[in-house]
Amino acid sequence: MAHITIDEDRVLALTRELVRIPSVPGGTGDGEAAAAERVRAELAAIGLRPQVAEVAPGRPNVVARLDSGRPGPVLLLEAHTDVVSEGDPATWSHDPFGAELAGGRIYGRGACDTKENLAAALCALAALRAAGRPRRGAVAFVSPVDEEGLMLGIKAFIRGGGAAGVTGAVACEPVDGLATLGTCARGALRLAIRLHGRMTHGAVALAGDNPLSALGPLLTALAALQAEEAARAGLHPLLGRFSLQPTVVRAPIRGTPQLNVVPGNAEVLLDVRTVPGQDHAALVDRVRQIAAGVTQALNDDHRGGDEAGWRREAGYPALDPALRVEVEVLDDRGWVDLPAADPLMAAASAAASAVAARPPVAFGIPGTTDGSMLRNWAGVPVVVAGAGSVRQAHQADEWVDAAEPAAAARLYAELAVRYCEEGEGS
Ligand SMILES: [Zn+2]
Repeated sequence: MAHITIDEDRVLALTRELVRIPSVPGGTGDGEAAAAERVRAELAAIGLRPQVAEVAPGRPNVVARLDSGRPGPVLLLEAHTDVVSEGDPATWSHDPFGAELAGGRIYGRGACDTKENLAAALCALAALRAAGRPRRGAVAFVSPVDEEGLMLGIKAFIRGGGAAGVTGAVACEPVDGLATLGTCARGALRLAIRLHGRMTHGAVALAGDNPLSALGPLLTALAALQAEEAARAGLHPLLGRFSLQPTVVRAPIRGTPQLNVVPGNAEVLLDVRTVPGQDHAALVDRVRQIAAGVTQALNDDHRGGDEAGWRREAGYPALDPALRVEVEVLDDRGWVDLPAADPLMAAASAAASAVAARPPVAFGIPGTTDGSMLRNWAGVPVVVAGAGSVRQAHQADEWVDAAEPAAAARLYAELAVRYCEEGEGS
């Protein structure tokens, strides 16, 4: 350790304090704003000059910077303020926002994802500043809102130029204990396929056009795409295979479905998870082609096939256009893959080895983090590291080992010193 002292009691106390702030967006209280205010106050107490910037009403990011005043690499520590809902409190055996200490664990929503790592990042900054480190470069800090939602916080941070000059970032999140480093993450694409037909009475179906007739061939073709792409992209050693799952099917898109009404429209939502190397734009094109092909086949039948004959004999004119389809990209988060040769990998591995007293194990993050946006929108190399395990995240009785937040603070401080002082950077 580079002669940096972590105030272990402070990390533990701050973790518990942050867990007691119920920062569920849209929940009771001031939510993310209250957590952001606590973070701001802590940064000010450390002697940094925090800046608070609202991303949406009542939803502020907090940023700060510990600058050596000398050129060098710039490491960003990122830890979100929001937490997911506690769900039904009856399923908890501890107060979801009590931060109870029991059996060597801290319990509460966010204890694992990721208030303990937010506290650890803040205490790492305090320790670095007290020690006059880093001697080169800078350590930047951001605590964004909405990581668990649409990632509005990190997106606003990047759009506002916050990532400019950053050469490496740590997403301070649970991986699977401190001896693991999240070196890669699956990408996520969220797509909506919307089919528009014509609503009618179920007894005179030929007077309309049923968008649900496209669903069977559409879902079958999407399953074939899933199988084909999973085979083509292959098995990633840490992330498994590509997956494309229809997760919501809805007709009509709005309003109440009714048995004797042919709906006017229908929607299929797709949750697509990619592995490094896959091209999101090409995948979206394939989905568009499939949707257009299915619709075209039905429309051909409508105008010139069996259906056209039935329409003529029943006295209904062909509809033009009949079915229409659109594909909307609701969200696009690219995959993450930290190159083995990146200086961030060396610094993170050395720091994790020092803290865990054994070489770290590379871990594939199945979901996305704010780090995914930093990597894909700002081109910043990212590693995910911190206390806790993703296995405890988002569950009832979420917990973290009470000794881990202090160890995470040591990890971040050690990583920052190695990265900024030993790295190349300008
Ligand atoms: Zn998280």
